[in-house]
Amino acid sequence: MMSFGDDVDDGLGDRNDFLQELIDREELSGAALGVTKVVIAKGEKALSGGQKDVFKLVLDVYVTELCPRHGYRIPWGEMYHFHSSGQCCYCERDDARIHKE
Ligand SMILES: [Zn+2]
Repeated sequence: MMSFGDDVDDGLGDRNDFLQELIDREELSGAALGVTKVVIAKGEKALSGGQKDVFKLVLDVYVTELCPRHGYRIPWGEMYHFHSSGQCCYCERDDARIHKE
């Protein structure tokens, strides 16, 4: 038996938190919901070919690697916020500055 965490790198725990947030906010349904639950519980390696395709679509919809305005690499902890607002922390700082002037 493989010990849990063998090939878990630093970002994956945070990614699971993000995926859990999508579930908690009822963003996902049907196959996307089922597949995401499997990824959280068992990791992506547990997915079949078809399930991997579904999970890839989930990532395509909800994950943005870099802020297009700042080239800022968005951490998992800020990913849902970016998805819902379209703003990274630098975008918000810029906008706050504009509103102040
Ligand atoms: Zn930004």
